[in-house]
Amino acid sequence: MASNDDTSQADDTSQADNQPADSDQPADQSAEQPTTDDQPVPDHRMCGTMEVHNRILEERPECRATRAEISSAIEARLSDDPSFRRTSGPTTIPVVVHVVYNSDPENISDDQITSQIDALNRDYANNSDQSNVPDPWKSLPTDAMIQFKMADTDPDGNATDGITRTKTDQTSFSTDDGVKSSATGGADPWPSDKYLNIWVCKLGGGLLGYAQFPGMPADTDGVVIRNTAFGTTGSARAPFDMGRTTVHEVGHWLDLRHIWGDTNNCSGTDFVDDTPNAQMPNFGKPTFPHVSCSNGPDGDMFVNYMDYVDDDTMIMFTAGQVARMQAVLAGARASIGS
Ligand SMILES: [Zn+2]
Repeated sequence: MASNDDTSQADDTSQADNQPADSDQPADQSAEQPTTDDQPVPDHRMCGTMEVHNRILEERPECRATRAEISSAIEARLSDDPSFRRTSGPTTIPVVVHVVYNSDPENISDDQITSQIDALNRDYANNSDQSNVPDPWKSLPTDAMIQFKMADTDPDGNATDGITRTKTDQTSFSTDDGVKSSATGGADPWPSDKYLNIWVCKLGGGLLGYAQFPGMPADTDGVVIRNTAFGTTGSARAPFDMGRTTVHEVGHWLDLRHIWGDTNNCSGTDFVDDTPNAQMPNFGKPTFPHVSCSNGPDGDMFVNYMDYVDDDTMIMFTAGQVARMQAVLAGARASIGS
């Protein structure tokens, strides 16, 4: 849902505790299932994007003005044309994947990386799972017309497979962006005005991933994905083994918000008109309908990529979300896609 008049919410006023009650407690680790390579798999989705966003806005207050400008530009473009498209065909985004590993199993295979690019291309087009969208929303799934390819030229102009591999002394990373710098045991980004940077590593705290919205610092721009939630093969583990953590995080990278608007009292907004207002995230595999915020009879659109459900349950973007991403591809991220 969108708020038409509440400009005070143009950026990030509050981040309520939307996770299950015990999600950020150390005891929560006991709910994780061990895997063969001894990496715990979270039992529910948790994304660090808003936490990171609010931290950076505190540390770098100058970003607030840039964010406000970007939000205004999107609003202006979509008020002129609510179904805006950057171009009539697909926009292709070059991707560099930075694999940062401590143990050998974390050094994921080229095949696993390819499986993630395939998953992005499946879901940023019309995927076949859209047939499972509940009847009231059947008309809403929309082809995002965005495709992804591994970068074939590195920042120095040399041929590349679009993959960097860095062995690190760090046993795991957090939301502090340490994985994004060689000085802190991670890998430096490639220029973020030319590439989508994706870091794949072990993440602590039950986190599946986090992203950075457009207009935030260039040296940390991109998305970070837990290596057990990346791609569809290799170290990917159910229920996050369909590549949709990256689909969700790239949605943030293209300025989509969580579908419940990041509050827990129905006052938040995702700045999109065709997504119902929802109170809180949905987890796991909910049964239709789940009603909150007086949004009956159809309830929360938990099948949306920007909710917190399992990979096999999130299956669609709406037309409003697609128009917003397309506006970003013509605006704040215009230098990347072609
Ligand atoms: Zn998120």
